[in-house]
This record gives sequence, structure tokens and C-alpha cells, in this order.
Amino acid sequence: MGQPSIHDPVEQNRQGVPRLKTRSAVTFLIAVCLSMAVIVIWESWSSRQYHLHDKEVAMSNLAQTLASQAQAAIKQADTLLFTLVDRLENDGIDAGRLDRLQRLLGAQRRELSQVHGLFVYDETGKWIANSNGAEVGVANNSDREYFIYHRDHPDRGPHIGPSIRSRSSGEWIMTVSRRINHPDGRFAGVALATIYLSHFLQLYDGIDMGRNGVINLIADDASIIVRRPFHEADIGTSLAKSPLFTRLLPQGSSGTATVRSILDGVERVVGYRRVEGYPLIVFAALNKDEVLASWRQQSLLSAGIVALLLGVLGGLGYRLIKLMKKQDRIQGELLGTQERLLELNRNLELLALEDALTGLANRRQFDLFIQAEMGRARHNMTGLALLMIDVDHFKPFNDRYGHLAGDECLRKIAVLITEHIRRPGDLAARFGGEEFAVVLPGTDYVGAFLLAEKIRHAVQSAGLPHSESPDGKVTVSVGVCGYDPASEAQTSELIGAADKALYVAKASGRNMSVIAN
Ligand code: GH3
Ligand code: MG
Ligand code: MG
Repeated sequence: MGQPSIHDPVEQNRQGVPRLKTRSAVTFLIAVCLSMAVIVIWESWSSRQYHLHDKEVAMSNLAQTLASQAQAAIKQADTLLFTLVDRLENDGIDAGRLDRLQRLLGAQRRELSQVHGLFVYDETGKWIANSNGAEVGVANNSDREYFIYHRDHPDRGPHIGPSIRSRSSGEWIMTVSRRINHPDGRFAGVALATIYLSHFLQLYDGIDMGRNGVINLIADDASIIVRRPFHEADIGTSLAKSPLFTRLLPQGSSGTATVRSILDGVERVVGYRRVEGYPLIVFAALNKDEVLASWRQQSLLSAGIVALLLGVLGGLGYRLIKLMKKQDRIQGELLGTQERLLELNRNLELLALEDALTGLANRRQFDLFIQAEMGRARHNMTGLALLMIDVDHFKPFNDRYGHLAGDECLRKIAVLITEHIRRPGDLAARFGGEEFAVVLPGTDYVGAFLLAEKIRHAVQSAGLPHSESPDGKVTVSVGVCGYDPASEAQTSELIGAADKALYVAKASGRNMSVIAN
């Protein structure tokens, strides 16, 4: 009844299978939690991309609308300039005509609400006509950017200069100008239309761009014409180093992107577009943080819910695994107890078949054994022999030396008998009292007699003192009987025959072996 070994199935079950089961449960739980986390992160990321894309499309559409609006507003003024230049070049400039021209300019300006003024300068920069009815000839604008530009550039297209504060009214205006030529192509002066920046700003302020959104109208040379929100300091600022000019515009005349402003460092979702026919760019942008604010709120909410769910799931899983472990432990303990009981049973069974004094088989085992062996002998038609051994004069031995010495004597004789039956199929048993029986399967009476004699000699040679015996030492008598498998003899008959032979040996003087008839 030792400790369970490594190969003990109970122990294997107790440690192997349950541990595997628990490990699978833990792995499954972790996998479920991880999957949920991954799904939520992925969902959140897609939603973020969708939010950004959505606003990029909105900004692109807005840029397109504002570009059309800017084009329409400038085109109206520019068309006036075009006809004005054409008339001046064909009709020439003289005092009479100038009067009429001045009235015409005034009338045309009143038609267009966005136009602040219409002006004509001669080749020296002298103011020769204006729509505002101011006195001609007092102002000289040869220092203005648009004047210098047209004087130095022969091209006939419209020019948009940096926004300026009007010398005549003090308001912020943008300038659209065209060059006037002499018939021989020399520079003859400049026709100028000025447009209120407020015309654009009113429109831009009406558009919801959030708290930190921006709309820019930018000249081709990267200088800001007008910007919402309006700060005077921003007008004319160069955006040449901004991502719009370094990265985006070289790729195409319109598009969307997410860029960081070089003016205020804010990251924005932008849409931009060149204004058709004019050297202008419209740029509309929303603060990225504001665009993502609602997304962030949503994501935080769903992350919170999932975290809560994960917590509950983890907690439940943990309890479940603890229960499983406990169950496995109890199951293991039960199996262990069962195995110990079985072991105990086996030992009890063994004890029930063993003689307590000598350790030989007891009468019960002898009966079962001889029954089975006789059946087998009959079936296989093999021989079988039986020895009945009885200690001579044992009653007087007990009387002389005492019962305990008698027991010791029986133990010694049992050892001597055991030493002589070496074949695994043989069985030595204590038949009862001081009588022993030996069953020898596959042995005939001759072989059995030889063995009987060996045992008798061994006991005699052991020289166990017995003063009450004629020999002076302990001796045994043996009855030998062979079994004929062909006969129908029963176990009782075989035992009876051996007993009879033993009786003959006793009667014949003891300390001898006798074969039964
Ligand atoms: P014989 O067989 O030579 O004819 O004489 P015997 O004295 O041996 O005759 P009997 O069979 O009448 O006596 C058997 C004795 O064996 C009786 C009993 O005192 C003794 N005996 C039987 N069983 C035990 C035992 O377990 N221990 C001891 N010490 N003595 C036993
Ligand atoms: Mg006897
Ligand atoms: Mg006896």
C-alpha cells in the first residue's frame, strides 16, 4: 500500500486532465477578452477614419462653392476693367472724355455692391479717373504693388495684388487690376477695381466652421488676401512654407488633407481649390480636435461599456475556473480514496487467503486452488499430485515445550516445505492444526514421492529437538497421492486417499512417506 506512483491513473487524472481543462478554460477566457478588445479598437479606428473622411468631403465641397463665389464676385469687377481698358486704348485719354469716364465709373460701381471703387492711373501713377467722384490729380499711386507690377510686366491678364487699406476710404480692400497700353505697346497706365474684403468676410462668417475653423482666400504668391477669423496682422502673410504650398498644390489644383497650420500650429482637416481664371486659392479647414470630439466621446463611452463587460466576464470566468479547480480537486480526492479502498480490499482478500501463523496459503485458498487445478488437469489431461504432511507426536511436543514453541516449530517446518517447492505453479498450504498440504500440478506420484522424501529428510536434518519422540527430534510423516485425469475422482476423494496414505505412514512407525494405492 505505497504512495501512488507517476503511472498511477488516479494521480494522472488528478494532475493532468483537470490541469489541461483549466488551462483550456483560461486560454478561452483570455481569447474572448482579447477578441472583444480588438473588435472595439478596430471599430473605433474605422469610425475615426469615417469621421475624418466625412469632414474632408464637406471641406472639399465648401472650397468648391467658395471658389465659385469668389470667381463670380471678381469676374464682375474684372469685366468692367476689361471694357474700360479696351475703351481707353481705342479712344485715348483727353480732358473731355475723362469727365464722362468718371461719371460712367461711378454709375458702374453703384451697380455692384462688392466693388469699393474703380480707378484709372496714367503711366506716372497719377490718378486720372475714379468712380468715387474724388478730385482727380491729387493722388499718386505709383508706389502701389499693382502699379509696379503692371509697369514691369507686359502681360494683359487680370492681376490680384495684396489686400490693402484704401487711401480714399480707409477700408480693407482687395485689388484687381489690368494694364493699359499705348498703341505701340508701351505702358500707359493701370485700370484698377477694388473689392471690399467685408464682402467675403460677411459670407465666411455666415458659415459654421466651429470654434477654430478657418477660411482663407490666398493669392498665387502665397500671401493671404482674406482670412476668417479676421485679424489685420494676417493680411499679406506668406504661406509659402505651409504644407498647402509645399506639398498639396504641387500635386493638384484641388484636394483634401489633414495638415498643421504654420500660423497657429493647429491641426486641421482641409479642403482647397484654385479659383478658375484667377490666381487665387480658396482654403477651408476645420479643427481636427473638434471634428473628432463627438467620435472621442462615443469611443470613450463604448470603451467604458466594453471595459465593464470585460470586467464582469473576467470576474465570472475567474469564479468559474476557481469552481472547476475545486471540483477537480474533490474529484481527485474521491478517486484517491476509492483507489485506497480498492488497495485495502485487495490486501484483505490476500489476508483472507493466507494463514496467519506460517504465511502459507490457508485452507480456503487450498480448497479453491485444488478445485481449479483438478479441473485444469482434467481439461488438459495432465497429471497432479497431492502431499499431506503431518508432524509426528506433536501433542507431546506441545505438552513438553509449550504452545508457543509448538507454533515456532510449525513456522520452521513451513519454511522448510516452501524451500522445496520451487515451481511457480505449486502451492503449499496449512491444511489445519499441525497438518500441511502441497498441491503439485503437472507432477505424477513418483515425482511427488521424491519431493515428499526430500521434505521429510529436510525436517529430520533440521534436528529440531523433541525429547518426547523416539527419534529425539521433530519428524514428519507424508501421505502421497497422484491424480489420474481420466478418472472421475472429486477433490474429497483425492484428499481422502492422501490422508489414508498418511495414516498408513503413521501406523507404520512415522517419519516416512507412503504412496496411496
Ligand atoms: P501423531 O500425529 O504422531 O499421531 O501424534 P500427534 O500428537 O501429532 O497427534 P494429534 O494429531 O492428536 O495431535 C495434534 C496436536 O497438534 C494437537 C494440538 O496440541 C497440536 N496442535 C494443533 N494445532 C496447533 C497449533 O496451531 N499450535 C500448536 N502449538 N499446536 C497445535
Ligand atoms: Mg500429528
Ligand atoms: Mg494431526
